[in-house]
Order: sequence, then structure tokens, then C-alpha cells
Amino acid sequence: MKLFHFNLISKNYNSGPIWLAVIPMACFEKNLLDAYPDLRGMERFPITDNHMHLDPGGLMEKAVMDFFRTGGTHVVLVHKPYHSAPVINENDFNRSFDITLDLADRIRKRTPVQVTVAVGPYPVNLLYLEKKHGLERGREIMMKGMETAASMVEEGLVQAIGEIGRPHFPVSEDIMNASNEILKYGLTLARENDCPVHLHTEGGGAELYAELASLAKDSRCPRDKVIKHFSGPSVLPEENHGLFPSVLASRKNIEKALKKGVRFMMETDYIDDPKRPGAVMVPKSIPRRTFQMIGKGLLCEEDAFKIHKDWPERIYGIEVEL
Ligand SMILES: [Zn+2]
Repeated sequence: MKLFHFNLISKNYNSGPIWLAVIPMACFEKNLLDAYPDLRGMERFPITDNHMHLDPGGLMEKAVMDFFRTGGTHVVLVHKPYHSAPVINENDFNRSFDITLDLADRIRKRTPVQVTVAVGPYPVNLLYLEKKHGLERGREIMMKGMETAASMVEEGLVQAIGEIGRPHFPVSEDIMNASNEILKYGLTLARENDCPVHLHTEGGGAELYAELASLAKDSRCPRDKVIKHFSGPSVLPEENHGLFPSVLASRKNIEKALKKGVRFMMETDYIDDPKRPGAVMVPKSIPRRTFQMIGKGLLCEEDAFKIHKDWPERIYGIEVEL
């Protein structure tokens, strides 16, 4: 059955699976599941975008339907700061995280795509808080944000904490130290709640991974639950020091990654910003890249299942259903 399915899709990866091609495109504009309730039960090839964002002012379900139409089945929706809900003190996290929960519900209701959710205090937020309240108070507020995220994991509302870490651009030593402290607290809460985290940090190679791995060790957080978001093809253990790479799905990255192994997931880091459509990558990049790699013979069916189904299931404790 699996093999048949693989054949079905690999032959048609330019146009999408056969059954999709016979559904009139206009139907996707309406509530798809109302129109075709059988779709949810239909067997498909698992395709996971491990890190994407949506915005209440952006395309939302339209972006996710683009992903679905090209073969996508599952997304990890990661919290980002929203213009309509700025975080100025600790009580603001609830309102801001609730927007992410609402977006996830909206996708569940309006598309057949499965959604896993991560929330957490966005690392750059510390800079705004520092300006407003000073570093000490800013740090305290970010810590409260971690607690709010962890309590949502505990309640079963979300499955992961993220994205957390440190700013992706150079910052003062004080900010860096405070960020590391906040991050370690987040990693500790993740361990206590047995959930994964999405790490947002500056770019870097094996040295950066080694440093982040030691922060995880200090917090006694299992490194294979620490997902390095926006990762390059750092698939070898000596490159990632046990952290789990979420590789940005450019052709170069994925080709390089596949040459080293398959212990990685794929992501677009799509941000759904109406002012910057397509930044960082568009949602259909993951199915396209996956089918392209299968078509080129660089990825076999079994390994594709590992990347898109086995790893997400193991890391998030979910079932990626087809
Ligand atoms: Zn992101």
C-alpha cells in the first residue's frame, strides 16, 4: 500500500496527487472539509513543515491550502509577535499566545492539514522590554512568558515551547547573558513538561551548536528534544552536538543534508507577512522540495517517512495521520 502510494505521487509530483487534480480548484476557496468530508480519511504521503508562522493580517488558511494542494499534510505552527497584541508586561503573553491558538483552530476548521503548536516569548522581545523597563525587569517578564508557555503545554493546548533563545543579530554582553538565562529557564520548563523547544539564535556552525547543547545539558533537557530552527545542513553529530536540526528547505540545504543522513526535519519559516509575501519561503516549498528529491532519486520513500512522520511523532508525541 505504501509503495503504491509512493508510485502514485512520484509520477505526478508536478501536478499533485491524482485525486487532487480532479477536484475543481474553486472548491478550495470554501471550507474544504464541508465540501469533501471524505478528504480527512484519505491516505496520503506525509509532508511536514516543521516551522511556519501565520498572521491574522496575512493569508492564513489560504497559505496552508497552498501547502495542502501541493501535497502538504502537517504543519508546526510557531508563535511570533503580532502587531495587534504587543507584549509590554507579563500579562500580555496570554493574549498574544491566544492569537496563535486561534490561528491553529482556524486551520483545523478550514483545512484538512494537521497542526501542532509551539508558543514562547520571542527572543528579540527582550530588547523592547529592556528599553521600556530596564534589563532586570525585562528579564523577569520574559521568564513569566516562559511560565505562561509551559502552563499551556501542561494544559495540552500546545505541544512545544518556541521559538525561544537569543536575538539573531549582535547584542551587548548583558543582553546575551540575560537571554541565555531566560533560555535555560525555558529548557528547564520544557524538560519538566516533557516537551520539545524551537531554538531561535544567531547563525553559526558546530561551535554554536556545542554552546547551545551545553545550555541544554545545564538544564538537563534531552538534546534530541531541542530543535535548532533555521538550521543549515548540520546533520552529522559532530556538527549539531545532538541538537535536532530543522533545516530550511532550500534545494542546496536539503541536497547537502541528505548526503549526510536523515536525522533532520524540514521547515520554511514562512512568516505570512502581507508586506513581505514569500519571505522567508512559501508554504509549498516543503512538498515541492520533497517530491523533487524523490524524483531525483536522492530520497527514498522510507527516509521521507522518517523526516515527515517518524521524527515529528517521536519529538512532539503526536500522530502524523494520513
Ligand atoms: Zn520562525
